Amino acid sequence: MVDKDFRYGDAKTDTFGSDAMLQPSPVEKIPDGPTTPEIAYQMVKDETFAQTQPRLNLATFVTTYMDEYATKLMNEAININYIDETEYPRVAVINGKCINIVANLWNSPEQSKWKTGAVAIGSSEACMLGGIAAWIRWRERRQKEGKPFDKPNFVISTGYQIVWEKFAQLWQIEMRTVPLTLEKTTLDPEAAIKLCDENTICVVPIQGVTWTGLNDDVEALDAALDAYNAKTGYDIPIHVDAASGGFILPFLNPEKKWDFRLKWVLSISTSGHKFGLVYPGLGWVVWKDKQYLPDVMSFSVNYLGAEIRQVGLNFSRPAAQILGQYYQFIRLGFEGYKNVQYNSLSVCKYIHEQIAQRAPFVNYSPDVPNPLFAWLMKPEYQKTAKWTLFDLQDKLAQKGWMVPAYTMPANIENIVVMRVVCKQGFSRDMADQLIADIDFAVNELNALEYPTPTRIAMEKNVPLTAKTFNHTGRPAPAAK
Ligand SMILES: *Cc1c(COP(=O)(O)O)cnc(C)c1O
Repeated sequence: MVDKDFRYGDAKTDTFGSDAMLQPSPVEKIPDGPTTPEIAYQMVKDETFAQTQPRLNLATFVTTYMDEYATKLMNEAININYIDETEYPRVAVINGKCINIVANLWNSPEQSKWKTGAVAIGSSEACMLGGIAAWIRWRERRQKEGKPFDKPNFVISTGYQIVWEKFAQLWQIEMRTVPLTLEKTTLDPEAAIKLCDENTICVVPIQGVTWTGLNDDVEALDAALDAYNAKTGYDIPIHVDAASGGFILPFLNPEKKWDFRLKWVLSISTSGHKFGLVYPGLGWVVWKDKQYLPDVMSFSVNYLGAEIRQVGLNFSRPAAQILGQYYQFIRLGFEGYKNVQYNSLSVCKYIHEQIAQRAPFVNYSPDVPNPLFAWLMKPEYQKTAKWTLFDLQDKLAQKGWMVPAYTMPANIENIVVMRVVCKQGFSRDMADQLIADIDFAVNELNALEYPTPTRIAMEKNVPLTAKTFNHTGRPAPAAK
């Protein structure tokens, strides 16, 4: 007979000797009663225990390493809500200073003491805010001209990140896409112009395309739009989605014109939590000047003890990330950021070079402008190989590496690529370990007697879309 009371435990009961550790974790209903903090901590901690180490996660763009002081500073601010500007006025000031610093990195011409921008939870919110501002500016202009304003559209390449699909669907703005191909690997300015008309609210080039790591040519787009706007009398502007590039280009390629130095670039967004080197979630959006942020986007909030103006989709948001960003600016300075980004890019180029030397692989592009790149299996190699990059993804996961394989966007969706993002915290030595593990996995896969399920699926010409493969890379169950 089990002594129930004893099994429930007391202060002397070891966590792993407790009754709770014999119970399944709650899935549907809140548990009837409380347990000790030690047990609750252990249960939640252990549920994530089998996951990979974040620093081996080469799939994510998001910061997986910050130094001890940054971590301490952010942990100490974990209970601060950014929106409480009246209660924590210095946080709002630090936020303004971060916006100024980011705006100046992008060569903002705005003269006022506080540049026009907003903090966001990531690039997704920042892109939305940039897109909404362009939409409202267009709408107000059309209204003034007495023209219809019910069919807005925007133009972007098929290499867009999913946020732009959300933007299109949630705000009912038509998304017009310029296809990427193996020959034309970035947004073709002329093709983009062909999709523009009087209802185009903006064109969105990307710096650091999520799928490929490449940069759209904003300078060429700006010139093409300038000619088109002059010819048509339209005012179509550019919003640059610089989720990754916004914190790479200013440090590693300051000569390149992609930012506010260009005439039609009126807003830019970036992820503070990608190459801004801050833990998730943080994004920034900056407008070239106050006049490009429609008044209707600043909401006045008066119930926090003072009247404050707010631009954003969220109300409450963590302040810790903002302090983390400001810490990084102070700690690293321009030179420090340059060093970190230079190392990430150098390690990335090294892996790119190594991959190019391996028989099965060919890089998607010879260029590595940002610290990420994609490669594919040589078509002639794929003909006889018994495996695919999805199998390599699985093999590498067994060693803890998260290196995603995925199919490319529309028009080149039959191409399977693999991608690495090299971030702060990923060294040359770790890159060597990754390359050794890739070689080991390829040897094992080449020794297979029979083709893998993903290879068979490919053989049967099952379209290689996200529906064919789930996120683990294994074939998804056949649709019924
Ligand atoms: C990551 C990314 C986004 C979305 O950014 P989050 O910070 O994850 O919200 C948008 N656009 C591009 C090009 C990206 O790489």
